[in-house]
Amino acid sequence: MPDPITARTRMVDSQLRARGISDQRVLDAMLRVPRHEFVPEPYRAQAYEDHPVPIGDDQTISQPYVVAVMLESLQLTPNDTVLEVGTGSGYVTALLSELAAQVFSVERHSALADNARRIIAALGYTNVRIFIGDGTLGLAAIAPFDAILVSAAALRVPPALMSQLREGGRMIIPVGSPNSQQLQFIRMCSGQPVVSLREPVRFVPLISNPE
Ligand code: SAH
Repeated sequence: MPDPITARTRMVDSQLRARGISDQRVLDAMLRVPRHEFVPEPYRAQAYEDHPVPIGDDQTISQPYVVAVMLESLQLTPNDTVLEVGTGSGYVTALLSELAAQVFSVERHSALADNARRIIAALGYTNVRIFIGDGTLGLAAIAPFDAILVSAAALRVPPALMSQLREGGRMIIPVGSPNSQQLQFIRMCSGQPVVSLREPVRFVPLISNPE
């Protein structure tokens, strides 16, 4: 692997800008956040490659381009409060931390949540809280959210998440079966969710308890 800054610059130019990602705040955040720190040692050499990478517990850190598409769609501002479902490695959590005011992230695997907390703290991010639990329920005590990003695929949009989106709020979520999923972008307008369909994707399943 070339040095991480060179690797990130290449990743942003060839995988993101060249494919149409143009939001400068997203591109800058992806230049800054050290993705390799979130990838376990055996896979670290692949950290900046154009595909998902294993992170343990049968989970993966998402492909950089898919992360960029999701972040760009949310049009985050520095005042936003964001819910993330599926912390995984914590990579997207760190990016959200750079782009928003406060980030609340829920992960069902305690080992992944602990690991993400450790890396996020070591990198100096202070506006992030990671919870262990079932993210399909959202975080009712903290809602409403300006934006919700879901990193695992649901068969349908969990109703609790929909109800925790504030007026004008945005959600990006992969919806579908393990073999056929599409990103859905949802904006809450006058109390009604307005859904638009985006890229086909392939995420690990969103597992709700009990199921
Ligand atoms: N954005 C993460 C992607 C992680 S993969 C990254 O880049 O690293 C998806 C994650 O969702 C996995 O860690 C999985 O354990 C988690 N997950 C699946 N169902 C969940 C649920 N109901 N609540 C919270 N997390 C869930």
